[in-house]
Amino acid sequence: MSNADQESWSKVKERLRAEVGDDVYSSWFARMELEAIEDGTVRLSVPTRFLKSWIQSHYAEKVLACWQAQDAKVVRVELIVRSAVLRSAVPKPKPELESTAAGGPRFPSTGTQVNGRPPAAGDAGVHEALGGSPLDARLSFESFVVGRSNTLAHAAAKQVAAAKRADPVMFNPLYIHAGVGLGKTHLLQAITWAGNAAGERKMLYLTAEKFMYGFVSALRTQTALAFKETLRGIGVLVIDDLQFLQGKSTQAEFCHTLNALIDAGRQVVIASDRPPSELESLEDRVRSRLGGGLVVEMGPLGEELRLEILKARVMAARAHHPGFDVPLPVLSYIAKTVTHNGRDLEGALNRLLAHNKLTGHPVTLEMAEREVRDLIRPQEPKRVKIEDIQRVVARQYNVSRSDLLSSRRTANVVRPRQVAMYLAKTLTLRSLPEIGRRFGGRDHTTVLHAVRKIEGLVGNDMALAEEIEILKRQLQE
Ligand code: ADP
Ligand code: MG
Repeated sequence: MSNADQESWSKVKERLRAEVGDDVYSSWFARMELEAIEDGTVRLSVPTRFLKSWIQSHYAEKVLACWQAQDAKVVRVELIVRSAVLRSAVPKPKPELESTAAGGPRFPSTGTQVNGRPPAAGDAGVHEALGGSPLDARLSFESFVVGRSNTLAHAAAKQVAAAKRADPVMFNPLYIHAGVGLGKTHLLQAITWAGNAAGERKMLYLTAEKFMYGFVSALRTQTALAFKETLRGIGVLVIDDLQFLQGKSTQAEFCHTLNALIDAGRQVVIASDRPPSELESLEDRVRSRLGGGLVVEMGPLGEELRLEILKARVMAARAHHPGFDVPLPVLSYIAKTVTHNGRDLEGALNRLLAHNKLTGHPVTLEMAEREVRDLIRPQEPKRVKIEDIQRVVARQYNVSRSDLLSSRRTANVVRPRQVAMYLAKTLTLRSLPEIGRRFGGRDHTTVLHAVRKIEGLVGNDMALAEEIEILKRQLQE
């Protein structure tokens, strides 16, 4: 493409902007790019199919007219969806926008065209947008585990989902904020599922993205009356990831919608990664409106909660994979070490499941350690004390600490003693003589013998290896 072409494109964009106004321009055309100009055909690309169909049905003539004003040789404009991955591999599409004698220029639509006419405003794309973002069937109240960090958010969500049409709205909006992976989307979708199942009020769940590119634009084409009609149909508007709402005009529409719904006594539920006061790009009055209902934060998932979530996940997975079993020590290990983020918990279990399915090997602590290594929270290695080793080992094998230090040679004491010496050698920097001294004044060769003995055994004895892994875990956390 020549510089001259790029220059023309800049001018066309200027013209377009002047004709449709800054707001419309930044909503629809900001991400449009020039791909090529050939034989009077201009090829433009946009990143999504939705944008393509929207521009086709609403701005086809304008775009062509702007080009023709710039360059009289242009007779057609083609609009394509550019592939995010393989820019150069975008196949050359069939000519799409044609200047016809009868109807003027137009973009034939993809598949939805009726009788040669472009789709009317409110085509499938828009209905789909108004119909809400897709819901994940697994994200329900049933699968949501309640713990200290989310009790309040959960209770508020339940209340919203169960409210009857005639009930006074208790808090509006309900605004839930939390860091990534802490269950916001889960809770919002649970509200939507439950509300829909109750059938009392129509629930509309939208991501901020969908709100920007679907809902708002659908509203824009409506008259004030139709807008009110649309809102009347919505009982509860649920918006996820509000922090992604961008652009002045979108925010204005959002504010308008929010006010209209709240004033009409409709429930609004919002999730975001930060409190209203930190949504910097929003105007003060929107922020204060957002903060005017109930604002609840969900904290990091505590260890207990993580364990419960994991257990619930394993149960759910077993519905499809009956042979899948994860021993409790493995679950505890994951709950303890993997990051606080719910997504990593899910990721960790998925790996165990995949490994188990592919190899047929049962899930063990050792395998879990290998599989989830990169999800583990970085942790200060803890200094292990010999007393701790003795205490933990004694408890594990149900002997007393003085038994371990004694000279008794019965099997039920000898093995635990050897294990404890082995752990003392591998987990501390103490020398063999020092360890011998700490175990009732034994010789360093006794310690060496114990260490070699256990090293030899763990190679063949899986149960013992596992036991020792568990002991190490306990000592190191
Ligand atoms: P967010 O939207 O806050 O980033 P998600 O709702 O997508 O987080 O949660 C991430 C993952 O963690 C999901 O798989 C979700 O089901 C799970 N999760 C988070 N909190 C809980 C919980 N309290 N009970 C059950 N699963 C949870
Ligand atoms: Mg989310």
